[in-house]
Amino acid sequence: MPAFDNYCNGQWTDSESGETFEVRNPADPTEVVGEFPKSTAADTEAAIEAAVAAQEEWAETPAPERGAILRRAASRLEEQAEATAEMLSREEGKALAEASGEVARAVGILYYYAEKALDLGGTIKSSSSTDTRLETRVEPLGTVGLITPWNYPIAIPTWKLAPALVTGNTVVLKPASQAPIVAHQVAKCLDEAGLPDGVLNLITGPGSEVGQTLTMSDDVDAISFTGSTVVGQHVGETAAVEGKRVQLEMGGKNPTVVMPSADVDTAAEIVSAGAFGGTGQACTATSRAIVHEDIYDEFVNELVAAAEDLSIGPALDGYDVGPHVSESELEGTLDYIEVGEAEGATLETGGSVPTEARHESGYFVEPTVFSDVDTDMRIAQEEIFGPVVGVIPVSSYDEAVELANDTRYGLSASIVTENLSEAQQFVDDVEAGVVKVNEKTTGLELHVPFGGMKASSNETYREQGDAGIDFFTTSKTVYLNY
Ligand code: NAP
Ligand code: MG
Repeated sequence: MPAFDNYCNGQWTDSESGETFEVRNPADPTEVVGEFPKSTAADTEAAIEAAVAAQEEWAETPAPERGAILRRAASRLEEQAEATAEMLSREEGKALAEASGEVARAVGILYYYAEKALDLGGTIKSSSSTDTRLETRVEPLGTVGLITPWNYPIAIPTWKLAPALVTGNTVVLKPASQAPIVAHQVAKCLDEAGLPDGVLNLITGPGSEVGQTLTMSDDVDAISFTGSTVVGQHVGETAAVEGKRVQLEMGGKNPTVVMPSADVDTAAEIVSAGAFGGTGQACTATSRAIVHEDIYDEFVNELVAAAEDLSIGPALDGYDVGPHVSESELEGTLDYIEVGEAEGATLETGGSVPTEARHESGYFVEPTVFSDVDTDMRIAQEEIFGPVVGVIPVSSYDEAVELANDTRYGLSASIVTENLSEAQQFVDDVEAGVVKVNEKTTGLELHVPFGGMKASSNETYREQGDAGIDFFTTSKTVYLNY
């Protein structure tokens, strides 16, 4: 079984505790895919110290040089893309095609921010005084802490660390304990690309210890967190008390509205892909289909057919839907399926653990469709984080939008319609950080901002694209009278 180390001050090291934890393949938990340091507060503090010590020199390194290191790391990761995608499927469980897409995304993000390095600097404006140059200069924040979830274990760490590094910050990254391997792979590529010691540090271990130490530390200037709303709120409160800049991207309860003008087949495909892709373990997964009564029955039939068409099995064997990442996530989904039945929703398909030999030991569940869902039900309000979608009937566009917004979350939302004014109206009316027309709620482009509204985010800064640069920088306004 491969043993992994922390990456601290350019060295690969154990935890001072000497303790480790195992990561297992969720399609076959008898397979241990890696052993990781169970790091302590002291390990985390050592990483922070290394990051602080490296910061000044890294910030003074010309931005194009910083970009060049990212570009070399991107190319190393690209060379190892296939093996990395396999590792991702093995530790997290998602279908191999999805894992390959995610690795390609991480490569793309590194290349994108490598080029962004050439645009960093600031702006010059004309001054109201003569002989005065008025300029804004962009500067790094200092040392930043990144805390990431298991469900996009390579894309999310990369979309945080790439803009943080290229702008001259040093980083301590704490990846999710369920799936830390591929974040290691990115650190390894950056190390091999010549990243100076201490500029990036990666520490594995419990969030309550490693994450908490990062969040509390006086030497960490900002925290960027992605994960659940419960943990995010705690991280946000702690970081705020410490006076840090903090970014929280959290859960979702994402709707797709289907209007009568929609092609029902296409709409069902869109909802099925959004709900069941990544085993429904996406923050942007479609969990509510809000469907006009004129096409409701036909839509439910098509969605059930689409769900039943998906093959379930180990990611590495080419199946469409992999397992949940862990037993507790599987239990969580099965509990919600019971809740839905008890609340009186109609279980149209799925709802059980599949029973073929290949499902025996993994955390599999069938793609599940509930119909006759009411907006007040818990299955229509709470994030399930599994392949479960509820279909809610409505009789008008206004009712559809009202229900789309009837949630504490506001991450992603979509509408399927052929009616242009309805589509445009939806973009205006819906409360979500990502809005899509005739597309699934999942799937993001890497060069445009991403983030939620309401309880999905603390709405300070967006991630990705230029917004990624904004979060990790501050500015000086300079009045230079010559
Ligand atoms: P999670 O349980 O909230 O964990 C996220 C990260 O926080 C992990 O690295 C975790 O460490 C760490 N952590 C736990 N307790 C902590 C503490 N007290 N202080 C500091 N850090 C702590 O989330 P998850 O289960 O990994 O991921 C699923 C959730 O992420 C879902 O709710 C999903 O919607 C959300 N998500 C949101 C987005 C978005 O962009 N909005 C994207 C993807 C996922 P351990 O792993 O060691 O517990
Ligand atoms: Mg969790």
